[in-house]
Amino acid sequence: MLDLSSKSFGAINLAPRRTVFSFYASDYFAGEKSHVRFAVKSTMKYFRVHIALVFVALVVLLGVASFEARSSRGQSQSPKPDSRVKPTVLVTDPRNAVAGNAASIFAAAAERNAALQNELVWTFGGKQQRGWYLYDSLINQSLNTQNDSWSGGFAAALAGWQKKVGLNASGVLDEESLNRMISDWQKNRLKDRTYAQPDQLVTAPVSDFYDPERLAELRQVERETYAAYKRMLAAAIADPSLNLAHTPAGELAPTEKYFRIVSAFRSREYQDQLRRQSPNAGSAGLAVNSPHFTGRALDFYVGGDPVDTKDSNRAIQVKTPVYQWLVRNAERFGFRPYFYEPWHWEYVK
Ligand SMILES: [Zn+2]
Repeated sequence: MLDLSSKSFGAINLAPRRTVFSFYASDYFAGEKSHVRFAVKSTMKYFRVHIALVFVALVVLLGVASFEARSSRGQSQSPKPDSRVKPTVLVTDPRNAVAGNAASIFAAAAERNAALQNELVWTFGGKQQRGWYLYDSLINQSLNTQNDSWSGGFAAALAGWQKKVGLNASGVLDEESLNRMISDWQKNRLKDRTYAQPDQLVTAPVSDFYDPERLAELRQVERETYAAYKRMLAAAIADPSLNLAHTPAGELAPTEKYFRIVSAFRSREYQDQLRRQSPNAGSAGLAVNSPHFTGRALDFYVGGDPVDTKDSNRAIQVKTPVYQWLVRNAERFGFRPYFYEPWHWEYVK
C-alpha cells in the first residue's frame, strides 16, 4: 500500500561488493599447490619421451602433406579443379579475430553478471539491496534485448548501452551502470506533481478494483489516466498470450484478479492515515511524496501479495506474464513503471 518515497529519485548509494571469485580461487589453490608440484616433477620424464614421439609424427605428417600438395598441383588438368583441398586453418580473417576477442570479453562479463545479478550490494531508499535480478525485465527492456542476464548476448547489449550513455563499455552490470539505469527510470516517471482537482477525477466502478468492497471515495482516478487504463486493459484481454479470463463483451471475468486496480487516487488525509497505520515502515516506506495524490498513479494486481516490497514477493511478481507484458507494452498506453514496485504505474502523458 505504501510507496517508497519518491524523494529518493536517482539518489542511490552503492556499497562496495564482495570479491567472491578471488576469495574462492585462493582458497582452492592454497590446498592444491604442493600436490601439483610433485605431480609435475614425476611426469616430466614421461612428457619428454612423448614430445619426441610427437615431433617425429609431425615430420612424417608434413612430408605426406607436401607430397600430396605436389601431386595435387600435378593433377591441375583434371576435369574437376574444385576437388583440390582448400586451406581452412591457416586463413586468418582479421574480422574473425576481432569477433573472437569480443566473444571472449563478453563471456568473462557474462560470468561476472551471473554473480552480480544475485550478489551486488547497493542501497535504495535507505535500505540495503542485494542483486539486480528483480529488475531483469526492466533492464532487458532498457537494453532492447531478450537475452538471459548471464549470457554473452546480454553482456554485448549492455556494452552497447554503456557506450551510448558514456560509461565504460565493460558489459558488466556493476554499481555504476545500475545506478545510471535506475536514475534513467526515475527520470521517466511522472513529472507533473500537482494535486488532483475534484473535477479532474472520475469514480471508477467497483468491478475495476481488486477489493470488491472498495469505497467510492477510494475509487477515484484522473480522467485521462482512467481512459488509458481501459485502453490498455482491452489490449491485454485481447492478447491470447496472457490468457486473461474475460466475458464475451471483453471485460475481465469476475474471477480474474490480474490487472485490477489495487489503489488509485489517494487524498492527503488518506495518505496520512496510511502512514499512521504503518509507523515502523521507516523513511523508505513513508509515502510522503507518493504521486497517488495526482490521480495519475495506479497500482495494478500483478500477482503475489498485491503491494508487498519483500524481495520474495517481488520475485514472484516480476515473473508473471502480466508484469512482463506491462514492461513491454505499458509505454504504448502512456504508463511508466516505478522500478522498485512492480505494481505501481504512472500515466505520464
Ligand atoms: Zn502505488
